[in-house]
Amino acid sequence: MNNRKLVMIPGPTPVVRTIQDQMGRETVAFGDPSFVKDYKELIEDLKELWQTKGEVFVVAGTGTLAMEMAVANTLKQGDNLLVVSHGYFGDRFIDLCERKGIHVDVLASEWGAVVPVEDIEKKLEEKTYQAVTVTHVDTSTGVCAPVDEIGKVVDKFEDTLFIVDGVCASAAEPESMDNMGIDLLLTGSQKAFGVPPGLAIVWAGPKALERRRSLGVIPEFYVDFDKWLPIMQDPSKYFATPAVNMVWALKDAVRLIKEEGLENRYERHRKVAKAVQTALESLGFRVLAELPYRAVTLSNLLYPEGINDVEFRKILAEEGIVVAGGLGAYAGKMFRLGHMGNIDMHDLVSVLATIERALYRIGYHVELGKSVGLLMKELLS
Ligand code: PMP
Repeated sequence: MNNRKLVMIPGPTPVVRTIQDQMGRETVAFGDPSFVKDYKELIEDLKELWQTKGEVFVVAGTGTLAMEMAVANTLKQGDNLLVVSHGYFGDRFIDLCERKGIHVDVLASEWGAVVPVEDIEKKLEEKTYQAVTVTHVDTSTGVCAPVDEIGKVVDKFEDTLFIVDGVCASAAEPESMDNMGIDLLLTGSQKAFGVPPGLAIVWAGPKALERRRSLGVIPEFYVDFDKWLPIMQDPSKYFATPAVNMVWALKDAVRLIKEEGLENRYERHRKVAKAVQTALESLGFRVLAELPYRAVTLSNLLYPEGINDVEFRKILAEEGIVVAGGLGAYAGKMFRLGHMGNIDMHDLVSVLATIERALYRIGYHVELGKSVGLLMKELLS
């Protein structure tokens, strides 16, 4: 019997009990001194952990709202934007920006590969761009962009902001605003933070804040930095009602991150990703992303010959493991498995064992226990 549904899609990710408990707490007034203190501490911690001399904004919304907030506060109609795209979510910036009258040029890779950094530099030399967007980990391809290297290149261009979508990366892939030349980083709560969906988080460094000042009054209201800045500096003030329980949940996630240590957390993600990928490759799956650019947060796995996507995922779901399908041209050809956040080692073993069982049930030749053994060996190494 499988009463439990283990959510192994690339976000939302499994939520641990202590975070879940924050969601069930009795909601207080957002002006309650204890809540104001909690909110303030959360903001301070996020600034310190992601090493910015700028500000952080934590508001109700999803990753897409964070994207909107990033763009609305840094670009205006008629500006030039260079979108570096490694998949579906990189492309999301195109529509989002074109409908604001921003001129968009795109450098896109084949799915699974990355845009060479030299191509980005060449493009920036040809034309003045007010910003470059890069998706740190594109969830559609499992590709991790070389943010550090791109940051060094963008840094050479004074008028250009470096905007990074960290939705599928932040709190799992190394990110340091100041050290990596990131001017604006955005994410959502439901991925590597291990919190339910519902919060948008945006870090803005000094150059991004300066850009905001230069724009004057912007057309957007809810996502305007100017509206939120006084609240982020003093959460006892009001602009729009904070998501009280979500803020507590994120605060508990940050407590866990501090307890573990960010570096240890990054290392744990690297180890888990390698173990999961080694184990699944032994069963005949192939990881879409090219080796040096594989994300640690999820695996996008191409099916071996003879496996039907719908049947495979249906049986897995019956056995209690929920994974995601492929996007775009890869729909039906691969599945996506999240392994980020506060993922439990027992659950990982169970996921591999269940994948083996599902393969066995659909008649695919599988040596039971093989991938589980490899997973454990890698995790112990
Ligand atoms: N960017 C990336 C890299 C994502 O993976 C996602 C969501 N999967 C988004 C942006 C959009 O976030 P949301 O669905 O929370 O709006």
